[in-house]
Amino acid sequence: MAVTPQSLPMRVASDRTFVDSIDPATNEVIARYPTTGTGDLPAIMERARKAQKEWASRSLAHRCAALLRLRDAIYSRRDDIATETSRETGKPRVEAILAEVLLALDTTDFLARQAPAWLRSERVPHHNLAMRAKSGWTEFHPHGVVAIISPWNYPFAIPIAQIVPALVTGNAVLLKPSELTPGTGAVIGELIDQAKFPPGLVQVLQGGGDLGAAIIDTGPDKVFFTGSVATGRRIAESCGRRLIPSVLELGGKDAMIVLADADLETASSAAVWGGFTNCGQACLSVERIYVEQDVAEQFIQLCLEKTRKLRVGPPSDPDVEIGPMIRLRQLEKVEDQLRDAVERGAEMLIGGIRRSDLGPNFFQPTVVARVNHSMQLMRDETFGPVIAIQTVSSPDEAIALANDSPFGLSASVWTADSTRGAEIASRIRAGSVMVNDVASYYGICEAPHGGPGASGWGRTHSRLGLLEMVQVKYIDVDRLPRIAKSWWFGYTAELAAAAGSLVEMLFAPSWQKRFAALAKKHGARGLIFRRNRI
Ligand code: NAD
Repeated sequence: MAVTPQSLPMRVASDRTFVDSIDPATNEVIARYPTTGTGDLPAIMERARKAQKEWASRSLAHRCAALLRLRDAIYSRRDDIATETSRETGKPRVEAILAEVLLALDTTDFLARQAPAWLRSERVPHHNLAMRAKSGWTEFHPHGVVAIISPWNYPFAIPIAQIVPALVTGNAVLLKPSELTPGTGAVIGELIDQAKFPPGLVQVLQGGGDLGAAIIDTGPDKVFFTGSVATGRRIAESCGRRLIPSVLELGGKDAMIVLADADLETASSAAVWGGFTNCGQACLSVERIYVEQDVAEQFIQLCLEKTRKLRVGPPSDPDVEIGPMIRLRQLEKVEDQLRDAVERGAEMLIGGIRRSDLGPNFFQPTVVARVNHSMQLMRDETFGPVIAIQTVSSPDEAIALANDSPFGLSASVWTADSTRGAEIASRIRAGSVMVNDVASYYGICEAPHGGPGASGWGRTHSRLGLLEMVQVKYIDVDRLPRIAKSWWFGYTAELAAAAGSLVEMLFAPSWQKRFAALAKKHGARGLIFRRNRI
């Protein structure tokens, strides 16, 4: 439950029992939320385990029906969700509705309908002759209690898109929202109650990184972490020590390749939107643009024209397109990267300045050219409204530069020739590549999300993401239960010879040799029709 700051005694502000919900447009504390004590975690885990057992015993149809109730709860609270996420993160309302509310609704509705097909047991046919008398299949079972540790930048859509597959597969959830967005975390808790999930099945635990670390110490069965590389590394270490499996959705440094035949009007609008949406604080932000030299000047001019028109201001103004950055320390990191780039010869074409006239955390959308890979701006994630444009002499050079990064979350290719675009896409080291669009694959429920290297491991969204929520169990039934197997004990030299003949019969390079292996003394038949077993 939220506590207004005015109602709190001063001493509360300085201790660690509350997390503040701060408006990044003003730095004003809007509400405070009690933190979860680490001492309470064993009891929380016990509650989760109890709720999970009961939940997993319910039918899939029952769990899907619960998802539809959650969908309806989200729909009924859509305005509150948009208001809270916009206020806490500074994102414009349009983005809050589309990237938070709509995405969450679509995921919930989709999985409620699709999960039964995606979780159906699968027959496993046996190609091996010796195994033909068996029938096998896979089943999907919940892990148990999964911990979901979320970032602040999409504080509603990201956790919902993980909670929903966790629940439909029969898991319980411990959700730790970011300490920067506790209000949105609290709304998620309210929606879970409204949708009448059993008590203890989804528990929202408020607090900072120390709480996140302590949650892992209590031994959840799987951890789904979305956040920075630095934290991901710590979580991987902690999970590794305990052999807890994890999915890590970490940072990105998305490349955009603009070929000379691209529609420059569309590509420049995509560059500006992809670089500056959510004030550039998105894992899928367009950060590095490689444009072919024949069209580079025209493309850069179009980007500048469009950047100049952007309206920067508080998200409470419905016409605003670029809100504040989340915190001053984030803005300072962006300034450091820009300073380093300029010192190394980059040219700041527009922006690069604070907008203190608007509030403490506003930064002018920035376009930088003459960049190269010696600069932090081209190597490290830039979590702010900056696009950096590098001119290239060929598509091959663009691909090589796109691949010259520890990150590999996503990328895009812009060209009038979609076949060529797809060919280039398959040569880019990234979890997803879009041809002639940016980032929107994230809104496709069927599309997997996640990338290699510093971008983490595992997948969310899609069937692959759903299967991250389950243990795969293989079951095999022998259809000849009264027949002992010919490879069981009772070993002899003859049996070893027959086993060798079996290998020859199956894999010798010529048919004559295979037949000979079957017919010869101590041939494969000796194993196939063997009787002297223990
Ligand atoms: P962050 O790493 O600072 O925090 C993320 C979460 O981890 C928070 O809830 C935080 O409290 C928690 N945490 C911090 N230290 C912890 C610890 N030692 N153990 C357990 N939990 C701990 O990240 P952020 O600033 O909230 O988010 C921005 C980052 O997230 C960016 O790098 C961005 O690219 C990335 N991100 C990735 C995706 C994706 O899908 N790949 C999506 C959104 C954001």
